[in-house]
Amino acid sequence: MSDLLKDVMKRSIDSEFYSPFPKGYRPGRTKYIVVFGTVISGIGKGIFAGSLGKLLRYKGFTISPIKFDGYLNQDAGTLNPYRHGEVFVLEDGTESDMDLGTYERFLDINLTKDNYITNGKLFQEILNKERRGDYLGRDVQVIPHVTGEIKLFLRKLAVKSKSDIVLFEVGGTVGDLESMFCIEAVRQLMYEEGKENVCAIAVTYIMEPGFLGEQKSKAAQLGIKSLLSSGIQPDIIACRAKNEVTEKIRQKISLYSNVELRDVLSIPDVGSIYFVPEMIRKTGVAESVMKKLKLGSRISKKEEESKWQKWSKFTGRIKNPKNRVVIGMFGKYTNLRDSYASILKALEHAGANLDTAVEIKWIETTDIEEGKLKVEEALKGIDGALIAPGFGKRGTEGKIASIKYIRQKNIPYLGVCYGMQMAIIEFARNVCGLKDANSTEIDSRTRHQVIDILPEQKKIEGLGGNMRLGAKEVLVKKGTMAYELYGRKKMIKERFRHRYEVNPEYIPLLAKKGMVFSGKHPEYDIMQIMELPGKRFFVGSQFHPEFTSKLLHPNPLYLGFVRAALGSGLSKL
Ligand code: GLN
Repeated sequence: MSDLLKDVMKRSIDSEFYSPFPKGYRPGRTKYIVVFGTVISGIGKGIFAGSLGKLLRYKGFTISPIKFDGYLNQDAGTLNPYRHGEVFVLEDGTESDMDLGTYERFLDINLTKDNYITNGKLFQEILNKERRGDYLGRDVQVIPHVTGEIKLFLRKLAVKSKSDIVLFEVGGTVGDLESMFCIEAVRQLMYEEGKENVCAIAVTYIMEPGFLGEQKSKAAQLGIKSLLSSGIQPDIIACRAKNEVTEKIRQKISLYSNVELRDVLSIPDVGSIYFVPEMIRKTGVAESVMKKLKLGSRISKKEEESKWQKWSKFTGRIKNPKNRVVIGMFGKYTNLRDSYASILKALEHAGANLDTAVEIKWIETTDIEEGKLKVEEALKGIDGALIAPGFGKRGTEGKIASIKYIRQKNIPYLGVCYGMQMAIIEFARNVCGLKDANSTEIDSRTRHQVIDILPEQKKIEGLGGNMRLGAKEVLVKKGTMAYELYGRKKMIKERFRHRYEVNPEYIPLLAKKGMVFSGKHPEYDIMQIMELPGKRFFVGSQFHPEFTSKLLHPNPLYLGFVRAALGSGLSKL
């Protein structure tokens, strides 16, 4: 332990070294990797970090990822997916950024609230402490209190997870006002923990304007300069670019940043994010990180190799699939593909396991609703239809009209959350004869409220935090398709994010007309999976099966759905 850290740890709250430490913190026990973005956001910082985590995990290290987001929302729950991408729900119900989904998928772990921090959450914590008098009369300042809180958050994760490495992704780009003090906290962390315990990585972007036809490094240089001027010397620079980054550009970056040429990495675009880990493996980045952090090998080369072999079996199938299937994605955010990130991944996982490329036909249900697109037209050339989750009225009549056709034409169907609710409304209207069946979310005064708000949620008001969230148990009914798909397990666990549910008053009628509720709450009459027997595949789930899907372990509902779509051969007709 450095003398400085000893000092920091033992000084009182009055000292300028103020920095709170969690109980049981052992300096040096956990190493830190910090990933920053420069130039622009959206270049796959999370994917790079997740891939690096995977490389290290396959070397036998335990990794705890954590993402910082600069916005003042306490979590991602109230964010519009159209602006921000999908809200990823963790097991404990935390509504987080979609990068946490990337980490779960790459590292095959379940994350919690401890792996996600926003400025909103941070400030809330600080203001609570201030009110409780925890700062003992001191003026509460950005430095050392806000920075101290960030370091505390990271160190708490180190203690709680007992991981070898905490992998910290700083959201946004260096220079953003809202992440400035987070970067300062990292600088302090590097100073306190010592050089061999923190590895800093800058992910940057090399431009290649079409009219020039060559790569340009100036923007990247400026971005890295900005990081350097914050007092952070990166150890590794990952250069994202459309094409392979040239040696000349890498040399320039190296010269301007004091980073050895071999640690200036070229990370060009690839067809699937699942190709990234193998690509960056070739750069030797994991070995560079280990050298910097003075970490020795944990497992044999042979063991590591066998893990990669298993992984590349699946990525190979993504690269060279034998079959092709077209899935119609019915939603209202189809302009922003990130809104459905986990669904697309879950389809990809199912596809890879079936040696099949899953192509997506995007269908904007508001177009159907407004008469701009005919249902028959929308459904042409698809093998299966996925009705996406959603909120609010817009696009719902388009979804319901599509489901009617999907059901009648026996097109494989998977309804996720709102998608299942839409199928129930359609069935109630067209099979049970309840013409004005609807959800109270769409029409609060409709006569047949087949989808209604959960009694337990009625008590809670206001936006934010009033949904049924997180992983819950689902009791699966014997003899159903869901039961077979889940490997004849009686009890499964899936993740939820909803307010409304099937109105229990209508369950007997729906069941009488042939709808099977194959999954329900273990105690209450909350319906969680529905299916129509006799169809190729007609399944809806109140939960989001995509949140638990992994490349090597696809979610059973997605697997069954893609298999049925493949078997239907409809797109070839
Ligand atoms: N709007 C619906 C509800 O709140 C469905 C939510 C969803 O699709 N995630 O129950």
